[in-house]
Amino acid sequence: MNEHGASMGKVVSLCKSRGFIYPSSEIYGGLSATWDYGPLGVEIKQNIQNAWWKEMVRRHENIVGLDAAVMMHPRTWEASGHVDNFSDPLVDCKKCKSRFREDALQKIWFEKSIDNGVCPECGGELTEARRFNLMFTTQLGPVEDAGNLIYLRPETAQGIFVNFKNVVDTSRVKIPFGIAQVGKAFRNEITTKNFIFRTSEFEQMEMQYFVRPGSEDVAFEEWKTKRMAWYVEHIGIKPERLRLNEHGQKELAHYAKAAFDIEYSYPFGWQELEGIHSRTDYDLKRHGQFCGKEINYLDAETNARYIPYVIETSSGLTRSVLVTLMDAYHEEKLDGKDEMRTVLHLHPQIAPIKVAVFPLVKKDGLSEMARRIEEGLREDFATFYDQGGAIGRRYRRMDEIGTPFCVTIDYETMDNRSVTLRLRDSMEQIRVPIEGIADLIRRETLSYKRS
Ligand code: ATP
Repeated sequence: MNEHGASMGKVVSLCKSRGFIYPSSEIYGGLSATWDYGPLGVEIKQNIQNAWWKEMVRRHENIVGLDAAVMMHPRTWEASGHVDNFSDPLVDCKKCKSRFREDALQKIWFEKSIDNGVCPECGGELTEARRFNLMFTTQLGPVEDAGNLIYLRPETAQGIFVNFKNVVDTSRVKIPFGIAQVGKAFRNEITTKNFIFRTSEFEQMEMQYFVRPGSEDVAFEEWKTKRMAWYVEHIGIKPERLRLNEHGQKELAHYAKAAFDIEYSYPFGWQELEGIHSRTDYDLKRHGQFCGKEINYLDAETNARYIPYVIETSSGLTRSVLVTLMDAYHEEKLDGKDEMRTVLHLHPQIAPIKVAVFPLVKKDGLSEMARRIEEGLREDFATFYDQGGAIGRRYRRMDEIGTPFCVTIDYETMDNRSVTLRLRDSMEQIRVPIEGIADLIRRETLSYKRS
C-alpha cells in the first residue's frame, strides 16, 4: 500500500472488472509477459499518447513526427551496441532452476535477510553469471538461415537515428530540432512483474532532439523541466509522487554525458517512468561508421558541417498508463454516510469517458430527451448513456472509471431545458442550460487542477 491508498492488487482488479486491462490470451491461461487493453484501457492509452503528441509535435514548431518499422535492418543493432551490450547478467539456481538478475540479487539477499550467495527461493547453489541478450529474434522470409535473422526493436529511438538524413533532406527542420515517435518495443525481460510496469511487449514515446555541439547542456536542462511539468499539467500526476534521479557515473552508458530518470513513487518503491539522456553524437556517428557514409548536418547559419549532439526523452506509454491509474485511484468515505466510493481522479483530458448522460427515470419522455442530448455531446466528447438503476449507483459506476462529468435529465429539464451537471471530484451538482453543457465541460477541462 502506498501513501495514497492504492494497492497494486486493487488497481489490477479494477482494471479487469471494468475493462481497462486484461491478462493476455486469458482463455488459454494467460501469458505473464504481456497484457491486453480493453475498451476503457485503449481509450486511456490513446489519450495519453495524444497528449504527448500534442505537447511534443504540435506545440513545438521544430519537432516533427515519424513512424518507423518495428523490424529494421540487423546492422542497426550492431551500430547501436545492442547486439554486443544489451544483456543482463543472469544467475540460475542449480536446484530449483529459478533465474535472477545478478544486479538484483544483492538487494533481495539484503531485504530477505538471507545468506549472500544462495538461491533466495530454496537456498540452493547458484551458477556463475551468464549474459542473456534481451532482444527477440525472428526470421525474415521463408528460409531459416542465419543471414535472415532480424530483431524486434527493443526501443523506438534507432528508427529516428537511421531516418535522420531522410528527415533533414525532406523537411524544413533547422537545428535545434526534434524527431518524435510512438510505437511498440520488445524486450525479453527476465522478470516481467508488477502488472504492466515491466512487460516483454510495451510502447514507448521517444523524442530525439538534435542540437549544435556545445549547446547540449542548456537543452538537457530545458527538457528535464518540460518533461516533469507535462506529467503534472497534462496527465494530472501529483507532483510529490514524481522526482528526478540522476544516474551515477557507474550507471551511465559509456557514450552518455549525463542522464536523469523521471521516477514515480509506485507502491513497490521509486522506479523509472521516463529517461532523459544527453547522448552526445554517439548514435549518428556509429550509424555513419556502420553504413559507410558519415551522417552529418550542414548548418546554414554558420556554414559549418558537423554531427549534431542529441538529447533524448524516452517515456514508457504503457508504463504511463500504470502511473496514471495508480495515481488517480482513491477510496473515500462519503460525507455523512456509512458508504465508501472508489474514484479515479483522472485528468478530464485523459479520462476514457468524458461525460455520462442519464435520464432520472425512463418514462414521460425523459429517456428520449436524454438520448438526444447525449447524441449532441457525442460529436465533441467520448460519452456514455445509462438509464438503468438508482441515480446514486449510476454516479458511483462513473466515479470508478474516472468520468469527470455526469449530466442528469429530470422533469425540470422538460420545463426549462436545464440539466444537472455533476462534477466527479467535488460531487458538486450545478444547474446548467442544455446549450451550455459543452462549454462548461471545456472550461472545466482547461482549468482542471488535481485536488
Ligand atoms: P528499466 O531500468 O526500468 O529496465 P530502462 O532504463 O531499461 O528501464 P529505457 O531503455 O530508458 O528503460 O526505456 C525508456 C522507457 O521505456 C522507460 O523509462 C520505461 O518507461 C519504458 N520501458 C522500458 N522497458 C520497459 C518494459 N520492459 N516494460 C514497460 N516499459 C518499459
